[in-house]
Amino acid sequence: MQRIFHTEHNVSEYRLPNSALFPVGPARCPHPGCQAFVRQKSHGFYERNIISIEYIGKIYIRRYICPVCGKTLSMLPMFCLPYYQYSLAAIFLTLYEYYCNQKNISRIRREQQTVYPSLRRRHIYLYIQRFIHNRQLIDYYINNISPGSNVTGSQPEICQWAKGILDEMVKTPPSIFNIHFHQEIGKSFMAHMKMIA
Ligand SMILES: [Zn+2]
Repeated sequence: MQRIFHTEHNVSEYRLPNSALFPVGPARCPHPGCQAFVRQKSHGFYERNIISIEYIGKIYIRRYICPVCGKTLSMLPMFCLPYYQYSLAAIFLTLYEYYCNQKNISRIRREQQTVYPSLRRRHIYLYIQRFIHNRQLIDYYINNISPGSNVTGSQPEICQWAKGILDEMVKTPPSIFNIHFHQEIGKSFMAHMKMIA
């Protein structure tokens, strides 16, 4: 299981394993079927890659374990999206350029080459597909936090819908949206899903 947390630290600070960059373990086990009121214990780190504007390379993620059920939890800093190497900011940027600034995929790739040299058309295409694919889930979340919101209420055409959501995310901003969405839904807004429960 993963959770996303708020951090003021830069991405590059996570290049070394450092407990001080992470919250203390939750006071209660987050796993359904256990949920014991027991402080989750630190349980080492694992490495993952991150591609961000200020740092590209490995970072260390804190892992915790429940002393009762033995299941683990990891805490991702808010600039990460689970299962994506590109940072939230990078992915959000491509979506925003596509839907809000109406740039095509080739142009986005060309313009981001100096910042993200390994960004390919297929990455951008995937991000657009995943975002759109999760429309129902994103709408569900938006309606939960602000019932009757205009962003999703009128079932607008897909590009208008995407633009409305992305504009809302800018205001939130995206890092906070990322944390709250994951907290509420248990998955990221860019999660890969065949079915929406
Ligand atoms: Zn447990």
